[in-house]
Amino acid sequence: MATKGLIADIQKYSLQDGPGIRSTVFLKGCPLRCGWCHNPEMISRKQLVWTNPRTCVQCGGCISVCPENAVSGFGAERAVDRDKCIADQGCSKCVDVCPTKSIETVGKWMTAEEVCRTLLKYQAFYRRAGGGVCISGGEPTLQPEFVLELLERLKSEYVNVSMETCAYSKWDILASFAPYVDLFLIDIKNMDPEKHRLGTGVSNELILENIAKLADMGKKIRIRTPIIPGYNDSLGNLRKEAAFLMEHRILRVDLLPFHLTGSFKYDKLNKLYQYMDCREPTKTEMLTHLKLFQVMGKAMGLTGTVGGTDIPEDD
Ligand code: SF4
Ligand code: SF4
Repeated sequence: MATKGLIADIQKYSLQDGPGIRSTVFLKGCPLRCGWCHNPEMISRKQLVWTNPRTCVQCGGCISVCPENAVSGFGAERAVDRDKCIADQGCSKCVDVCPTKSIETVGKWMTAEEVCRTLLKYQAFYRRAGGGVCISGGEPTLQPEFVLELLERLKSEYVNVSMETCAYSKWDILASFAPYVDLFLIDIKNMDPEKHRLGTGVSNELILENIAKLADMGKKIRIRTPIIPGYNDSLGNLRKEAAFLMEHRILRVDLLPFHLTGSFKYDKLNKLYQYMDCREPTKTEMLTHLKLFQVMGKAMGLTGTVGGTDIPEDD
């Protein structure tokens, strides 16, 4: 039987996931727990339902149809009891009954062939735009068999592939992906192991080790750093990061300003967004941070962006 992957979403067009225009496959499941995550619905490795209190017309259909009594309340009181809900066993009764699509299932099991067929519809477009496909998440390394099959299929069709990974993975898995991946997009969230653990739930040692190994293999890597004021934007931390990039000859960094736009997703999941009071960095601050990387990496030709939007270049 074909291996299936749990897919959170397939976004047809993205300008931020590698050169050109790309389709991005978001896989479900992540081993990190970043408090500022703007895709919290993708963290769990299971299918789940989430609800939108803003579009709910309070008909009560979802409450009465649920076989597990998992749904309760309206508006700000709306809650889905995750311990009771059996969406991961295929239940979608609340989704089916909702007249306003205010309850949706996140996560769909698909074979690599099905995903590939969807992506290949846009292949002419990728070619014209110098783009391809990005495999993202969640975290691709948590579904290694499925991802490897998807990579093999995409490469057999000559599709350019980028992969967004947190690199918190057994090396063997990343090494098995590497021959098929044209560009790795990897976050460095903090250079201090303890602060990294505080912000994400895990230390950064394995991540930095894997980045170094991929760089040693000669793989193209772009580092992405979400700039979280008060957490990782100190001069000392960013200097250490720039030095790490130079040591491993990684010549591209995208600095991504923290923003609050994903906070509504926490409402949909009945979760508290811990970073609600965090401020967004100013444009001047972001450009100053980027300048630091540019100055430290000038001799080696490091380039960078604020925001990560691709610019035509020879990468
Ligand atoms: S998916 Fe099923 S069990 Fe879960 S809340 Fe909806 S109706 Fe209830
Ligand atoms: S079925 Fe949809 S509209 Fe009706 S109460 Fe539930 S979420 Fe709201």
